[in-house]
Amino acid sequence: METKQDKPTATPFKAVRLAASAALGTLNEIYYKELANAKQQGKPVIWITSMTPIELVYAFDGIPFFPENYAALCSSRKVAEDLCKAGEARGYSQDLCAYALCTFGIMFEKRGAFGEPPPDPDILIATEGACATHPKWWEAMQRFYKCPMIIIDAPYTVDSETLAPRQKAYNVAELKEAVKLLEQATRKPFNMDKLREVVSLSDQASELWDEIDAMRAAIPTPISQIDVFTCLFPLVTLKGTKGAVDFYKQLRDEVKARVDNKVGFVPNERFRLIWDLFPIYHNMRLLNYFAEFGAAFVTDLYGNAFSGRLDPSDPFGSLANRYLSFFMRAASRGKAELYKKRAKQYHVDGIVFHSNRCCRNFTAEQPDIGAILREELGLPSMSFEGNMVDPRGYDDAQVKSKIETFIEMLEARKYPKK
Ligand code: SF4
Repeated sequence: METKQDKPTATPFKAVRLAASAALGTLNEIYYKELANAKQQGKPVIWITSMTPIELVYAFDGIPFFPENYAALCSSRKVAEDLCKAGEARGYSQDLCAYALCTFGIMFEKRGAFGEPPPDPDILIATEGACATHPKWWEAMQRFYKCPMIIIDAPYTVDSETLAPRQKAYNVAELKEAVKLLEQATRKPFNMDKLREVVSLSDQASELWDEIDAMRAAIPTPISQIDVFTCLFPLVTLKGTKGAVDFYKQLRDEVKARVDNKVGFVPNERFRLIWDLFPIYHNMRLLNYFAEFGAAFVTDLYGNAFSGRLDPSDPFGSLANRYLSFFMRAASRGKAELYKKRAKQYHVDGIVFHSNRCCRNFTAEQPDIGAILREELGLPSMSFEGNMVDPRGYDDAQVKSKIETFIEMLEARKYPKK
């Protein structure tokens, strides 16, 4: 029998701001002030890659700085394109990871998201755990800043279930070696009690984040994907501090109140989607375009990459466990399995892939993941091209037209007209 479908129409959408956003703004302000004053206070500024145990930085009373996170900030403040061009002017390719390219612009031009550049690093720490770009990028910065650099080697692992004891033991040894090098570079003795305290705070922040993440399964889903991405800042940069724990308690309570009162962030939720993978920092409003059609993102894996439980009674062992088994290291089959589980738990209708041109590391596998979800779960998907940081080459009209076609297809599947 033939079915006739009306074209879905967009309804202007205005997101309700989280009350916790004010607390997040304050945390941001405090962090950037501390970063700016770190050297005067005798605190080492430690530039660190994502998926490197930030807990070691706080254990040494350092101030961590994540160039990736900062490049995202530059992008949302619309200065990333210029900084990327400055990196290109020094010979780096536009096809390079835009986090790296933007950081090279910051490094050579000595300017940043708010005009002034971030303070130079006293120490650089990287790991190969998340991406092979990191150590090369850090080496280039080491040549420029001429400060000590520590590379924590991480063996290739597929997921937490298959993490071999020898891999964990190797990474524990690497972490302990990093501690020795940090003692030399900071001229401070390592304090195990301090590490346990930091690990405990980091674990509490992760536990709260996991609670919030689980509540996104509620119908309607209580929190937007923009809020999820925005609220990640403490989990990335302040994990291991009391400020992060207090913030996530407030956020958890607010999200819980929304769930208890059946308040969704989309007033009339019609479709529930998965977002894969990177945010699109220069145009976060794109996520609201889905909301105009009643489509809500209810889960993603990126947001959870920075979470992970730790055990203060076994700081090194649990750090190795967490950082070797975080999902981004999983092969496409592993990620597809995670999504399959979530698709059921979160009542998902489809998946959206942001094919991030500058990150081959995590886009190469997206077609595989999409195929597995389609074949094994019948889950439809759409994909669009962009760059998480650099707005060049992103075509908003074309992407929106793809979204409309996708929503039309979802409409026909979920609400067929007789
Ligand atoms: S994983 Fe992708 S986005 Fe992250 S540093 Fe590597 S290339 Fe860049």
